[in-house]
Amino acid sequence: TRRTANDYVHHVYELVKRRNPGQQEFLQAVREIFDSLRPVFAQHPEYIRDGILERLVEPERVISFRVTWEDDSGKVHVNRGYRVQYNSTLGPYKGGIRFHPSVNDSIIKFLGFEQIFKNALTGLPIGGGKGGADFDPKGKSDREIMRFCQSFITELWKHIGPDTDVPAGDIGVGKREIGYMFGQYKRLRNAYEAGVFTGKDPSNGGSLGRKEATGYGLVYFTAEMFANHGLDLEGKKTIVSGSGNVSIYAMEKAIGYGATIVACSDSDGYIHDPGGINLDTVKQLKEVERRRIKDYLDFHPDAEYTENCEGIWSVPCDLALPCATQNELSAESAARLIENGVIAVAEGANMPCDQEAIDLFLENGILYGPAKAANAGGVAVSAMEMSQNSMRFSWTEEEVDEKLRLVMQDIHRNCVETAEQYGFTGNLMAGANIAGFRKVADGMVTQGL
Ligand code: GLU
Repeated sequence: TRRTANDYVHHVYELVKRRNPGQQEFLQAVREIFDSLRPVFAQHPEYIRDGILERLVEPERVISFRVTWEDDSGKVHVNRGYRVQYNSTLGPYKGGIRFHPSVNDSIIKFLGFEQIFKNALTGLPIGGGKGGADFDPKGKSDREIMRFCQSFITELWKHIGPDTDVPAGDIGVGKREIGYMFGQYKRLRNAYEAGVFTGKDPSNGGSLGRKEATGYGLVYFTAEMFANHGLDLEGKKTIVSGSGNVSIYAMEKAIGYGATIVACSDSDGYIHDPGGINLDTVKQLKEVERRRIKDYLDFHPDAEYTENCEGIWSVPCDLALPCATQNELSAESAARLIENGVIAVAEGANMPCDQEAIDLFLENGILYGPAKAANAGGVAVSAMEMSQNSMRFSWTEEEVDEKLRLVMQDIHRNCVETAEQYGFTGNLMAGANIAGFRKVADGMVTQGL
């Protein structure tokens, strides 16, 4: 049966490659999952019988559409919008919307594919999906953003709904954009369906604690990983790449645990402040003024700025939290981190470490927290936002935070135990992939073909 299982995985991977030529990020995400799954198929012939893998890699529905909008000077622009409704076994499609010029089929599909397993790991009733547009929000006025969001939803509204597909934010989409999208959905739908989006402002049904959830959850997960090895975060030198939502609240929570943040970055470069990054300055620059990270020097002239964001991984540290974007941490950067004595790496972004980087961490006994598990706190609190919207009720920030902490502990325990059970002791990536997969696969078997 091991032979059959290996042949099966290989056969489906060849099929995915043939059907999705050139989609590098998507194939990377598929390959990582498949590599972990070989021992699973040897034990579960019903998954092969029911074609679970062939079905999982093919999205249930892919929507691609034109987004026409007018800039402040009256010029007309056209972008491409996407929504991949990947898998609805466990609940309504759930996942963020990304606005970034790099967005294409491959990026949305890799994100949607990973989202299926991440969402399964939360233990909450949500399927997997993802969307976005190749629109660049950088330098756009507030009105331009609003018109873009409205035009995006003028098409997308007919495909989403609180029991169908529930988008949220991702890179380039925060509560401002979600607010504009929700407003447009409400106008077109003629119903106040708060649960159709998550990550809303608390004034229109957003959950308290959602903004902080991915970053806080990442640090809760990391703290569990440390504790499991008799370590803690106190005094640990920490690098956090990125300076968006995930990064800012990962820094905040890590500081709360006594860590010192020595560097953070944006897509232009990174700042190194050995005494500890001043988080209030970063928040003011990024959340309020929407400026660049190099302007940190205006307030702290003793810090160093380097124009090269991948250079951040050469700063010596105990803990590295990549919270910017996919493939931001290569094998070369991983080798620098290991040379400089890093203890742990946990992923706040989706697929930030490439496959060779991950292999190096695992071979060298570095504690490695994979994105699907480590950054699942964001979507977990999104699912809690859906619960609150269904109840027409809201929980306090403390209630949400306590539930988030329990979810992250549970995910960590599940990854550790599943890894052990399938012969991957200590490999949380394999544990996360198998645990997420099994939950979805069992659901698919019970629902029939
Ligand atoms: N974009 C986030 C993620 O990658 C959050 C998705 C959500 O809240 O639906 O998980």
